[in-house]
Amino acid sequence: MVQSKASQPEEVIGSSYDQNKFELLALSENSNLSKTQETCHAETIIVGGGVIGCAIAFELASRGREVLLVEQSEIASGASCAAAGMLAADSEDFAHPLMAKAAHESRELLHKHKEQISALTGMDLGLRRNGFITPFRSYGDLSKYKDRRNTTSGVQQLWWDRSTVQRKALWLNRDTYGAYYRSLESEALPVSLTRAYARSAEMMGARILEGVQDVRLIVDKHGVQGIMTARGEVCCRHIIIAAGLQGEQLMHQVGGTLPSSPVKGEMLAVRFLTDQAGGRPDRTVYAEDVYIVPKANGEVWIGATSLPGRKDHSVSANSVQRLLGAASYWVPGIKEADFVRAWAGIRPSTPDGLPYIGKYEQIPGLYTAYGHFRNGILLSAITGRWIADMLEGKSAEEIGIEALSPDRMNRREVML
Ligand SMILES: Cc1cc2nc3c(=O)[nH]c(=O)nc-3n(C[C@H](O)[C@H](O)[C@H](O)COP(=O)(O)OP(=O)(O)OC[C@H]3O[C@@H](n4cnc5c(N)ncnc54)[C@H](O)[C@@H]3O)c2cc1C
Repeated sequence: MVQSKASQPEEVIGSSYDQNKFELLALSENSNLSKTQETCHAETIIVGGGVIGCAIAFELASRGREVLLVEQSEIASGASCAAAGMLAADSEDFAHPLMAKAAHESRELLHKHKEQISALTGMDLGLRRNGFITPFRSYGDLSKYKDRRNTTSGVQQLWWDRSTVQRKALWLNRDTYGAYYRSLESEALPVSLTRAYARSAEMMGARILEGVQDVRLIVDKHGVQGIMTARGEVCCRHIIIAAGLQGEQLMHQVGGTLPSSPVKGEMLAVRFLTDQAGGRPDRTVYAEDVYIVPKANGEVWIGATSLPGRKDHSVSANSVQRLLGAASYWVPGIKEADFVRAWAGIRPSTPDGLPYIGKYEQIPGLYTAYGHFRNGILLSAITGRWIADMLEGKSAEEIGIEALSPDRMNRREVML
């Protein structure tokens, strides 16, 4: 079945997140938010319940901070439910060395969080360290790849020649010239991860509210005062904009210009009914033209297209054909697998390719955490840690992330 919208392309493993568990109107009865007269109070409000907002809620709650997360729809209903869930710290080519370093730290932090979340909630994130293979058709392709690549430092990889590939990856095309094998690379089920962050945050005292429409930021000359929504007002000391692609609109409310543009991606899932004589991949193939990701729910996900400027969630027959063609070249067994579904999601990109993470200096108390483009699942854990460190008083300079500051847009004249 082709889904017209990016709606949860995964079977959630373990207990699911209880939707609509809380009502904003019930805030006054809540014990961990203080109430003054008619207005409720939360120390920090996070706007947006994708993987980034939920990871921040998790980190803040685990440090004992008072947090309210408001989501206009459901937890993990934006880009986070469309992702492949790869934690490709060694395989991605990062434009900035800071992002490569952050990606490695974040991948390892996610493995630590997995233990914490599992002990707290019993939820399974489908997080596994199965390693990635980047295969090449010829020596020429390998040389071009090496010439193009920015990210070389800190990458953990082994070179597998043709006979090693044939021995270690029986399911890969027998004509493969050779491949890089990156053993530390990992992948997770993105909806399960996002929901697990939300659920764990809640168990540590955070409030998570879904279906909260029409959020208006309230700021005055002293800075952040709170939010007004269709269902009531909450005052706070800090607001964190973690609304993915819609972060830009929220910033417009307070006169900020932090542009974000859509890059649509289409994906599909297949399922191998039996092992089909060793045909099912047991590691991710991260090729130049396609990725093939065996998931913990038994499916194999294939992605992804990259269509700048597109915001719709349709999936074209041409894209499905192209992705299946590329995937079945590398993993011939895919031709015999069952087609499960296809979906599309929208990546939030920024003009300089870096996310906006940090304090918005013009408005005391306002922080941004959006624009993670194609690596938001990977960078979720480190983003949570950085934001929590900043709320505790560390500066972007101390953390080493000045390059990500939202104020860079005011310093440079960046146009969309
Ligand atoms: C096809 C595809 C494949 C991808 N594969 C990978 C991958 O393998 N690995 C990886 O690391 N990343 C991957 N990504 C990128 C990743 O999905 C994103 O970077 C990440 O999900 C962004 O998370 P987010 O929380 O910022 O945004 P979102 O998940 O979009 O969450 C933002 C949330 O904010 C809510 N919101 C918006 N406005 C408001 C408002 N006014 N009030 C309240 N709530 C609001 C939205 O409803 C939404 O739930 C992929 C993306 C796509 C599309």
